[in-house]
Amino acid sequence: MEQQGEKITIGADGKLTVGDNPMIAFIEGDGTGPDIWRAARGVLDAGVAAAYGGKRRIAWVEVLAGEKAHKLTGEWLPRKTLEVIKDLKVAIKGPLTTPVGGGMRSLNVAIRQILDLYACVRPVRYVPPVPSPLKEPEKVDMVVFRENTEDLYAGIEYEAGSEQAEKLTRFLEDELGASVPEGAGLGIKPMSKKNTSRLVARAIDYAIDRGLSSVTLMHKGNIMKFTEGAFAKWGYETARELYGDRTITENELWDDYNGKRPEGRVVIKDRIADMLFQQVLLRPEEFDVIATPNLNGDYISDALAAQAGGLGMAPGANMGDRCAVFEATHGTAPKYAGLDKVNPGSVILSGVMMLEHLGWNEAAQAVRDALAATIADGVVTYDLARQMPGAREVKCSTFGREIEKRLKG
Ligand code: NAP
Repeated sequence: MEQQGEKITIGADGKLTVGDNPMIAFIEGDGTGPDIWRAARGVLDAGVAAAYGGKRRIAWVEVLAGEKAHKLTGEWLPRKTLEVIKDLKVAIKGPLTTPVGGGMRSLNVAIRQILDLYACVRPVRYVPPVPSPLKEPEKVDMVVFRENTEDLYAGIEYEAGSEQAEKLTRFLEDELGASVPEGAGLGIKPMSKKNTSRLVARAIDYAIDRGLSSVTLMHKGNIMKFTEGAFAKWGYETARELYGDRTITENELWDDYNGKRPEGRVVIKDRIADMLFQQVLLRPEEFDVIATPNLNGDYISDALAAQAGGLGMAPGANMGDRCAVFEATHGTAPKYAGLDKVNPGSVILSGVMMLEHLGWNEAAQAVRDALAATIADGVVTYDLARQMPGAREVKCSTFGREIEKRLKG
């Protein structure tokens, strides 16, 4: 049953106005989604109650997508779902299966593109004593800003041998003088200044708001000059044109300041993608915010998640100017569906990001602390238990209840 509440509004300055009972949309998700969502919802409600003593409460509104939507409405992603999310401005979702052979390439990609949620924000922060393959995992504290609407994810792709692939191959060879292997499948990688610039601006805003030291532009521009290379070039232009008095480039840092960051300035630097993969392992403390195109962002966020305890602890948010959808980094983990087994930490931490987005920082901190305390007490789900000798392995729902218990004091 839906609860009574008020709609969140957004002012011209992009700021949210949130009442005490904001209506927030949720999609429970497929596979392990219902298990982790159920556990996470209980924890988030308990966190809000613990922080505000019943004065504030989220009014949850269920919207359908994925297998549940298909079963009940015949559609994978009903139009009403998108309308409600747009109207309510904030939503949280469990993972969704990509229907194989269906009309939709990926429901997740569709939601991001249709709602223009152009920034995928994925913080990676180590929660002790979660097991990590690093020697000094406490140095891992980064946020990835992944462009969410273009790049190879734009869906412009043609199967090998198809009429479109043949036609495009002929065009590339005859009109543009390119050489294409015979019978190749083709994918197009569109990347634009507009979409790069708004993503990088959001990443810089984030660093400025939190007093962070640097924004790193991650790209593969040494090989793909006019897409990935342009991303870096447009990123630097954005920093210079919109934040000239709040940023400096890494070159300026060394040429003019002998490597010592001037107070109040964010250093803008860039790294080639393959090199960054090793630097985040060897010297994670050198990176705060990483802004990157879509495909690089997909890879680096899973790799970073592994450094901080794995996908079961990896939260995320898809943010646009008009609405935001919070979701875990991982997928539906279908082999564990319905087993009440997997770690709900990823959705709980996505919920923490959501509470911060609402400005409910006390509730966010309460949930974060209770989650950390539960893990510190050695009460964990299978994924952490297999790396923590002596820990007590519990089900997904029990893990949620244990966190709630610590919130209730
Ligand atoms: P996945 O669902 O992310 O699962 C891969 C592995 O990650 C799992 O087998 C498990 O590892 C670990 N894992 C995932 N969630 C976990 C959790 N909550 N707690 C602990 N460990 C967790 O990847 P996939 O199997 O490649 O994808 C399955 C489906 O999800 C596909 O249909 C895909 O399209 C979809 N997907 C959806 C989203 C989204 O909704 N945003 C994102 C990615 C993928 P172990 O086997 O080692 O235990």
